[in-house]
Amino acid sequence: MFDKLKEYLGVLNSFSFTMSQITNHSLAIDTLRISEARYRSLFENIDQSVIYLDAAGIVVAVNKAAEQLLGLPRDITIGRKFVDSCVKVIKEDGSNFPEEQQPSVVALRTGKPVEGVVMGLFNPEQQNYLWVVVNSVPEFRAGERQPHQILMTLTDITRQKQSEGKLSMASVIFNNIGEGIFVTDKDKKIISVNEAFIAITGFTHQDVYGQNAHFLQSKKNSIKIDDELNGLAGPVNNWQGEVWRRHKINGDFPSWTTVSEVKDASGEVAHYVHVFMDITHFKKAQDHLGFLAYHDPLTKLPNRLLLKDRIDHSLQNALREGSQAAVLFLDLDRFKGINDTYGHAVGDGLLREAAKRIKNLVRKEDTVSRYAGDEFVVFMENIPDAKNPAKLARKLIDTFNAPVYIKGYRLKMSTSVGISLFPQDGHDTETLIKNADAAMYRAKKEGRNNFQYYSLELTSEAFEKMSMECALRQSIERHELILYYQPQVCLKTGKLVGVESLVRWMHPTLGLISPKQFISIAEESGFIVALGEWALQNACTQMIRWMDENLYVEKMVVNVSAIQFLRSDFVATVERVLRSTGLDPCYLELELIGSGFMDNSEHTIKALNQLVALGIDLTIDDFGVGCFSFNNLKRIPVKKLKINGSLVVDMLSNINDEDITRALIALGHGLHLQIIAMGIESQAQQNRLMELGCDQGQGHLYSSPVLPWANIFRKLSE
Ligand code: C2E
Ligand code: MG
Repeated sequence: MFDKLKEYLGVLNSFSFTMSQITNHSLAIDTLRISEARYRSLFENIDQSVIYLDAAGIVVAVNKAAEQLLGLPRDITIGRKFVDSCVKVIKEDGSNFPEEQQPSVVALRTGKPVEGVVMGLFNPEQQNYLWVVVNSVPEFRAGERQPHQILMTLTDITRQKQSEGKLSMASVIFNNIGEGIFVTDKDKKIISVNEAFIAITGFTHQDVYGQNAHFLQSKKNSIKIDDELNGLAGPVNNWQGEVWRRHKINGDFPSWTTVSEVKDASGEVAHYVHVFMDITHFKKAQDHLGFLAYHDPLTKLPNRLLLKDRIDHSLQNALREGSQAAVLFLDLDRFKGINDTYGHAVGDGLLREAAKRIKNLVRKEDTVSRYAGDEFVVFMENIPDAKNPAKLARKLIDTFNAPVYIKGYRLKMSTSVGISLFPQDGHDTETLIKNADAAMYRAKKEGRNNFQYYSLELTSEAFEKMSMECALRQSIERHELILYYQPQVCLKTGKLVGVESLVRWMHPTLGLISPKQFISIAEESGFIVALGEWALQNACTQMIRWMDENLYVEKMVVNVSAIQFLRSDFVATVERVLRSTGLDPCYLELELIGSGFMDNSEHTIKALNQLVALGIDLTIDDFGVGCFSFNNLKRIPVKKLKINGSLVVDMLSNINDEDITRALIALGHGLHLQIIAMGIESQAQQNRLMELGCDQGQGHLYSSPVLPWANIFRKLSE
């Protein structure tokens, strides 16, 4: 097209030249006129922008297309230098286009055509650049070596330049943006990722290329992006939301993701563009804010709001299930004094310590809240009975009594606790807290460092138990515990084979109390550990004493509660007692009480084996009541089984009990264990047990438990 135009315009030019030479030849003039008109029309109407410059670079002719392209009427451009008519001319790289390098100037200077030069012509009206490809062709008069004019054609490439610019801008954005971007094809297969994607996910191009977009999603997501995308409709073809993404090494992270559909010319989805940013920090900050809204910043405990929420929710369940719950309202005694005396930093430390101690005591399902200043609330859901919260209250009071060390000060703190119960003392959170608070005030009035139920009856019941527990704790130092001893005999020979030590408590006001009344309290409060050690120590000492008195007893049998065993280093205790008393372990037999020994844990089995390795015999007490597993029985290194007295008592009248006893004896013998029957009160019971093959017996028939100097031991050992 361009070449043709050149040809036409060249001819036109040469004609116009010839015209000035020929004046008198009318035919020729006519022909020329026609021809000139034809070519002028062509010049004017052709789509290509054409401009003629003279030898000085002055514009001499501009066609319509050029006029439109430049946006300047020709009477402005003609007669001026072409470059003057544009404020600024730039090269493709944006730099200034010096006049001497511009194609028309070069073509004039060199006499050679300059083609395909891209120029940006600034349009001051539109404040943008007009991008053109310029060809400048010099034209010569016959015989002249200097061009007399320049034919300049301009082709508008502004659009092309703009989309090129957009593309390169998009590519710059794609690779420099902070958000991770990956693009998939219509089948969700990843085809491209940007630099930020690699930095954020740790995956490289190779790791993900061709993978389905799912590959980058974590299993933590509750939503499926595919479902969301399928739901897209209407003009907004993108989806935004929180998506958990995979990191190649560091695990999952939350992202804010935008997925956009890209459609092809036919309106079909061709690509999906996923843009995402890692919002871990944002989430953390958000979580922290959420945490602060519902927690006390000092102790990190739930605040009132969260407490109320939890109680409200729990009471609904309790109502549905008919279960009980309790609110314990704690107030630190004399906290204000500590704050005033030692300053707020110490006060804060004390509150933090109080929170820690409370948290350490409650069950996982309980809620501990810092209610206000020095007030804490514990909410216990699903409590087994009304007495249960008193146990926690006691433990709380005890734990607060231990000294606190803050900033070099040794401080004493104590607390008063009020307890309200659901449903007895209120059906809603506010009432329960209000009543627990009222009970707490009563506890303060009663002299602090104690607890009160909202209901007075429950308080007195709990106090009875509590005062029993308090007194029991002092029983050892007050020498109120006494060991009684009961003989165990061989059924065949009637000879003494062992003596069981049985503890009693000489209560200062209630008199001699049976272990049945206080062992469970000792177990609940943990005092059983001290009590058990005391009994072991005294029983072993008694055994040595008998030896010194030349009374031969084969075994000293000491009861061991499972709780005592599990809550202390029992093996070490036994070793210590044997060392301190000097008793040979072969004289010691331990009766294991409770299913805790049957827990089949490695710890239990190891400890029991250590005891056996020392030379101690083990017996399972109360065999035949409660649960036992044959498998566990095989793993525990016991030597003897003790049949519970309740079976023996009814054995003669109740055929079932006899059958059970027979089966237990057969089972024990099958495992090569000895069998001792407890609670033998009559000759008939003894005879029946002998017929069943029982080895040993214990019971009132031989002797009830007695003090160690009783005659019976010597009598039976002779
Ligand atoms: P246990 O080990 O089964 O002790 C046997 C209980 O049966 C004793 O009750 C004993 O007095 C009673 N008894 C003995 N012969 C007869 C009889 O012929 N008929 C009837 N009906 N009862 C008989 P006690 O002394 O009241 O002890 C009760 C339980 O207290 C013991 O049961 C034992 O589990 C626990 N206990 C006693 N002393 C200790 C101890 O030092 N440590 C631990 N952890 N528990 C102990
Ligand atoms: Mg026993």
